[in-house]
Amino acid sequence: MRSPDTRRYPRPEWLQGVGMTSQRTRDRMVERLARQGIADHRVLEVMAGEPRHLFLDEALAHRAYEDTSLPIGHGQTLSQPWIVARMTELLREQAPTRVLEIGTGSGYQTLVLARVVTELWSVERINALHRRAGERLRLLGAHNARLRLADGGHGWPEAAPFDAILLTACASTLPEPLLAQLADGGVLIAPLAEQDGTQRLVRVRREGTRFETQRLETVRFVPLLEGVIR
Ligand code: SAH
Repeated sequence: MRSPDTRRYPRPEWLQGVGMTSQRTRDRMVERLARQGIADHRVLEVMAGEPRHLFLDEALAHRAYEDTSLPIGHGQTLSQPWIVARMTELLREQAPTRVLEIGTGSGYQTLVLARVVTELWSVERINALHRRAGERLRLLGAHNARLRLADGGHGWPEAAPFDAILLTACASTLPEPLLAQLADGGVLIAPLAEQDGTQRLVRVRREGTRFETQRLETVRFVPLLEGVIR
């Protein structure tokens, strides 16, 4: 597998891209993430090495390292760098080996996860996004990520249980099958809509048949929707 640390293993300039997609731009993004409180060095190292600009259409690629979410078509968004880093950091506290992601989208969060866990499963409901993400992840050698076109509310029963489950779309109630597919001691990290409409990141820990929910920071995600779009 290619090392994500391109500072130690520099790639030729034509492969790195120039200007706004260069290593220096990525380094600046990671410095900003560290200032914003991301403390997990492995997460910062991975994000310093991986080409986020390849997860956007060419016309938007120059904005890839800005502190913002960006459109990826079909009304969906590439999550902002901070939330990708934060969710990955929270997940890594668990030291998970088997992880399920709901909402592949562009595939960027999928790639970051693939670099820090052993096995990854990721579900997307929009076929066009699912296929494009698959191409990018293959190109970047994320061979430990398995993708599926499906309604993620059903999870991935054949691969369960998971040490951690990550949702990158906001639910108003957490789908029961996802909780059921958590391993004992596992955690689910998700944006959850509260009664007043604000969204909050929550961490649900399973202890046997008990589920303990911890409310974390407020966030902004697209909604978790039902059904598949082919
Ligand atoms: N992590 C992605 C986030 C994309 S936005 C990225 O940074 O690119 C959230 C994604 O969740 C969208 O692609 C949306 O289509 C998908 N999604 C929403 N509801 C879903 C569901 N029930 N099952 C699977 N994917 C879903």
